[in-house]
Amino acid sequence: MRVNVDLPVIDIHTHIGRLPGVVGEIYTPDDLNYIGEREGVRFMLASSATATTVGQRHATLEAIDMVQRHGARLGGMLWINPHDPAWAEDVPLAVRHKFYGIKIHPVLDHYAVDRAALDRVFACAREHGWPILTHTDVDGTPMSASCYEPLIQAYPDVVLILAHLRLGAIPLAKRYTSVYLDTTYVDPAMVEIGVDALGPDKILFGSDAAEGFDVGRAPGRPRPPRSYAGLIAGLRERGIPESALEKIVYHNAHAVFNLT
Ligand SMILES: [Zn+2]
Repeated sequence: MRVNVDLPVIDIHTHIGRLPGVVGEIYTPDDLNYIGEREGVRFMLASSATATTVGQRHATLEAIDMVQRHGARLGGMLWINPHDPAWAEDVPLAVRHKFYGIKIHPVLDHYAVDRAALDRVFACAREHGWPILTHTDVDGTPMSASCYEPLIQAYPDVVLILAHLRLGAIPLAKRYTSVYLDTTYVDPAMVEIGVDALGPDKILFGSDAAEGFDVGRAPGRPRPPRSYAGLIAGLRERGIPESALEKIVYHNAHAVFNLT
């Protein structure tokens, strides 16, 4: 059964690979492509969580395989774990396979966010014109939005997407042209607050798919079921106007990731 969404969705935050939590929970490029095809998603940017559960090189190779087989719908994001002394060796691979940006996850990869941890990653992003998508932890922690401010100031030309629309991220997106937020696992009421605070130009649509989405088989770790139509219906129920939705769901992603 097809369950098409009625907008040309671009999802900037999805994952393949071996997810943390349950050994054996794995999403393949075919799973992600199945979701996109079945629900009518135009394009999905994906990194492999295998970087945090197994190793970064393993993850990079999975993402390359994904791009080679499903590049029309699935674009690569390079998950960098700055603890890995060899992380930079994957950068030429990502360039060769036309990856769209960098994904970092300070919580899963266990490091506090500061310049010592991430200067080299931001310099790499600047060199290649790559946006950085990061998991932003809850406010008040050493991985929260406010910890990124020195990096934002030092690298004003690097686009930084602070995922999960934390309250502490809103002032940063307001102050700095390079900072964006995403809707991944965000309550629709919080997205409404974000749109009211910032306007629709600084918010990008993300989902953390494949988690919770129908991939045509039982997952290793069941989650509350989700769908693109359901996520967008949730945003509409909050009264977010169509013109704002169009920006959040695809126009902003086009601009930020230079999609054609
Ligand atoms: Zn994620």
